[in-house]
Amino acid sequence: MSTTEVFDYVIVGGGSAGCVLAARLSEDPDTRVLLVEAGPGHAGATQLEKPATWAALLGGAYDWGHTYAPNPRLGGRAVPIPRGRVLGGSSSINAMLWYRGCSADYDAWEAAGAKGWNFASLLPYFRRAEDWEGGATDLRGAGGPIRITRPVDPHPAARALLEAAAELGMVVLDDSNGPDVAGASLANLTIADGQRVSTARAYLDPAARRGNLTVRVGVTVRELLFEGNRCTGVRVDGPDGAADIHADVETLLCAGAISSPHLLLLAGIGDPAQLRRHGLPVRLSLPGVGRNLQDHPLLMGVNFRARAPLGPARDNGGGAILNWRSDPQLEHPDLHAFVVQGAHATPEVAARHDLTGDVFAVSPGLMRAHSVGELTLRSADPGVSPHIDPRYLSDPRDLAALVAGLDRVFDLADTVAYRALVERPVAPERRLGPSEAAEFVRMSCSTFFHTAGTCAMGYGADAVVDAELRVHGADGLRVVDASVMPVLPSCNTNAPVIALAERGAALIRGEE
Ligand SMILES: Cc1cc2nc3c(=O)[nH]c(=O)nc-3n(C[C@H](O)[C@H](O)[C@H](O)COP(=O)(O)OP(=O)(O)OC[C@H]3O[C@@H](n4cnc5c(N)ncnc54)[C@H](O)[C@@H]3O)c2cc1C
Repeated sequence: MSTTEVFDYVIVGGGSAGCVLAARLSEDPDTRVLLVEAGPGHAGATQLEKPATWAALLGGAYDWGHTYAPNPRLGGRAVPIPRGRVLGGSSSINAMLWYRGCSADYDAWEAAGAKGWNFASLLPYFRRAEDWEGGATDLRGAGGPIRITRPVDPHPAARALLEAAAELGMVVLDDSNGPDVAGASLANLTIADGQRVSTARAYLDPAARRGNLTVRVGVTVRELLFEGNRCTGVRVDGPDGAADIHADVETLLCAGAISSPHLLLLAGIGDPAQLRRHGLPVRLSLPGVGRNLQDHPLLMGVNFRARAPLGPARDNGGGAILNWRSDPQLEHPDLHAFVVQGAHATPEVAARHDLTGDVFAVSPGLMRAHSVGELTLRSADPGVSPHIDPRYLSDPRDLAALVAGLDRVFDLADTVAYRALVERPVAPERRLGPSEAAEFVRMSCSTFFHTAGTCAMGYGADAVVDAELRVHGADGLRVVDASVMPVLPSCNTNAPVIALAERGAALIRGEE
């Protein structure tokens, strides 16, 4: 092993957040930045670029292939939780929806203790990231790295969602990221010229020629290195074997909501009892590491047989979204559905229903779930994936909301717009009564892929990072990724991660 290289900043993980930080920090030519990514580069990987077939990437070469713990409330099923393992991270394999939720989602971060993090403080960074086809407004950005477009010729199932929602008296929004979010809209998509826009493409490629930015792919960070409580860099494994890399200024953990807390725990930063159980010396007692794991449960299972062939998949294989309240008393929508231009089902649903032929889905998810889970060590060996459990449906309110969501999809199916398109429902085969619906929810409940919150920002007993994203009690170490969200916003998580990384870069550069 050789101790050779020294940088100012070592960024661990080239995903949604890591690519933003690498690009923004290397704008200063006097700053030496290293980005270390375990997966391969994105260039030339044409299967990543094709928006309509993104689902084929899951479980493949660019996916870490993690699995949530078997869940007794889901009949003991262990739900796979894909994470991107390639430059661009999960933004290179995700479904390309750009949906930011509502302002209350971010005001909730400040209310939870993340001082200074609210919608007003994040809005300039959302706008800085965006190149919205509709042009700049008070709420939207134009000219930023991330091109955002809407479907030009929406799929029939996407068009029908807008018409069906209107028939039910719901609002049809021009822009899903406008001032109001309740209602149906064509999706905002990170697609430009028919190709995926990942953070690797949007942020890293334009910065690649900078002499002060080094990007290493196929290199896995195994260990965080410390002198006392100061993180001095990382120990990596790569094609040339093991090496230590020194960070003169800071090490920035951007490994995502699974790997970032995992690396902290392995470094002896976490709940002392848990660390001792695995024979790890306690460096810092931060019991919140791995706690507060949040994800949106999604029903993969509500499928309809079309009267006529629907044609090839377009856009991101979806194209339209809908937000509504499971209970009219709620202040903000908690349910969100999107169209899938083909069958969409857990293996258990697929085994019980005929989903062959011209089938499409409307998949509802719960965006304000009450169930909270955690991530814990299974071993002190960095090669062993941790125990990851969102505890879906552990709060009974979540089951009730998803049953309401399933019922609402059948209201949509009863509209003139959908009746013109649908021959019959195939999974479930009819509107279900309450107990059958609960059973169907348990069988079809899966992930929206939005794992977050495992290194929560704040100042309470379970906080892991402060409002500048610095790990409490450590020097030279920040976490900048989905794990710092104290509260999961009611939306897809790529846009929020990119905005928080943009703000994180500004904080690191002392611009705020
Ligand atoms: C299948 C799927 C579909 C999704 N669909 C959408 C969507 O349509 N819209 C949306 O907004 N959000 C979507 N999401 C969620 C969103 O993409 C993620 O929340 C977001 O990308 C997370 O960003 P991150 O920076 O926290 O982590 P990631 O983007 O996952 O980045 C972490 C990076 O760190 C690397 N890494 C991890 N450990 C190490 C290590 N030890 N050494 C070196 N490198 C390491 C990983 O390989 C990865 O590149 C989806 C996610 C998935 C997986």
